[in-house]
Amino acid sequence: MNIELQGIGMTSQRTRARLIVRLSEMGIISEDVLSVIMNTPRHIFVDEALASRAYENTALPIGYNQTISQPYIVARMVEVLLAGGHLKNVLEIGTGCGYQTAILAQLADHIYSIERIDALLKKARQKLRLLKCKNVRVKYGDGNKGWSQYAPFDGIIVSAAPVGVPETLLNQLAINGRLVIPVGMVGQQQLLLITRTEDGFDEERLDMVSFVPMLEGIVG
Ligand code: SAH
Repeated sequence: MNIELQGIGMTSQRTRARLIVRLSEMGIISEDVLSVIMNTPRHIFVDEALASRAYENTALPIGYNQTISQPYIVARMVEVLLAGGHLKNVLEIGTGCGYQTAILAQLADHIYSIERIDALLKKARQKLRLLKCKNVRVKYGDGNKGWSQYAPFDGIIVSAAPVGVPETLLNQLAINGRLVIPVGMVGQQQLLLITRTEDGFDEERLDMVSFVPMLEGIVG
């Protein structure tokens, strides 16, 4: 493997293994999720100056007032998303640096990801290319609108918090499809799992979380 991707010192396999131990101590049980996190180079998604902290279980700045999500949160959300069984097509809102997108790409058949900050999306595209994530399609746009061309989705995962669940995303969920989304104002957000049934939606309340807000419109 390319040395940049493999990592050395603070980005080495040994450092990553410590993160995996931490995630399992915190309750992540999916072997698939843990092994994909172990094998995905998080350090290439952050600035070089932060690379030595890439395998700490913390969110880190990625510019434009945004952050790469905490590994535990990525693991938790992806585990919840996958708990309903194999996923053919997944919609991700908030590509950010593309880290979670790369994780999803290894666990589901097709990933469609939307980001509203063009500069972030451009960088994410490069990283996803470097990692040869060929089953990912990204789009510059407002995630509140979903991506009707590829709907319905059997999984939707949202990485920024709206104040309420966007109706459009509910409509783009397949029957038995699962939507994992943080909802609420800063300081009082809750992670929700919403499952579409034959005649409506079931809602399960999960952890209290802290995400950047989901905003309207796009930033060029
Ligand atoms: N999973 C990403 C999280 C990035 S932070 C990562 O680990 O890098 C959340 C991202 O959601 C930010 O990049 C922000 O620009 C984006 N975002 C916020 N509102 C959005 C919207 N309406 N549509 C698309 N992306 C949005």
